[in-house]
Amino acid sequence: MKFSRILVEKAILNENATQKILAKLSSCPYEVVNSYLDYFEKVRKPYLHKRTNLYLYLAQKKGELVKEAPNAYGTRGESHFYYYNALNCIYECEYCYLQGYFSSPDIVLFLNHEEILAAIEERATQQPGRIWFHGGEFSDSLALAHLSGELLLFAEFFSKRPRLQWELRTKSANIRPLLSIDPTPNIHVSFSISPPSLARLLEHKAAPVELRLRAARRLIEKNFSVAFHCDPIVAQPHVEEEYRALAKSIAEQIPIEAIRYISLGALRFPQGVYDEVRHNYPKSFLFHQYMIPSQDKKMRYRKYLRRQLLQKVQNAFLSSGFLPEQLYFCMEDDME
Ligand code: SF4
Repeated sequence: MKFSRILVEKAILNENATQKILAKLSSCPYEVVNSYLDYFEKVRKPYLHKRTNLYLYLAQKKGELVKEAPNAYGTRGESHFYYYNALNCIYECEYCYLQGYFSSPDIVLFLNHEEILAAIEERATQQPGRIWFHGGEFSDSLALAHLSGELLLFAEFFSKRPRLQWELRTKSANIRPLLSIDPTPNIHVSFSISPPSLARLLEHKAAPVELRLRAARRLIEKNFSVAFHCDPIVAQPHVEEEYRALAKSIAEQIPIEAIRYISLGALRFPQGVYDEVRHNYPKSFLFHQYMIPSQDKKMRYRKYLRRQLLQKVQNAFLSSGFLPEQLYFCMEDDME
């Protein structure tokens, strides 16, 4: 990954984590600034500029470090939160909601990892029962993990707190930073996957699906808890066949019983993101099917089509030997 420039907050310039990143990216010029907030999103930077002119900010996150996830974000009946360790992503998925979420595609890595963990601890003490903390809501959890360097620290934290569940979501195959971790059952790595033909069309620069599956298998061999997200599911004429082939390919490579869960979610966008995606990818395959504003103000397929799509994909997995309790619908509150 090539960054055009690095901006480092003065307060963390001499921290170990910062110096390690600067050493790894030694061919890239860097500049010391007071706060990333003085630059990031100060001037609108078009999303597609990430292809040729991408900045990296090394910063500390202040204010809200942990945020409650929306309803139906994860497995039902449990509390879900995500934490801020990074903003934006080096990959370029055409449906990525980050393109309408921030007015800049530049990457921010927050290096105050101890403070983020303290915020997670504080949240956890306020709530009994199993509670989930997700990375990768505003970035990919593993794509830059070799640079950001927090995984060992986070793994050590979560491995001592079995009530807390830690999920890393990714479309990368960059699992090397995980291989030195001794996994405990509450550390979950989840791979977002689509049928390979669709991934080639829509998920630019992300690892090919075959490599994600290989990485998943390797992690299972190392005793990690592994899950998959089939999200977003995009309407297309051969959806059931495509997902049946995908389910078959997973089942051939990975013991089905070792897969913790598979979430299914139909394509959806907040209105602002929808407008931005249309602007960035006017001819995208994503827009072959009509979308309308739904009750939650997101742009979605019509309800009957969403139901049909999710059922077809669910059938594809069930007919390939997956168990009903392994599958759940994500962000589909109004489907029942
Ligand atoms: S991997 Fe995730 S965060 Fe990265 S571009 Fe794709 S959808 Fe966005």
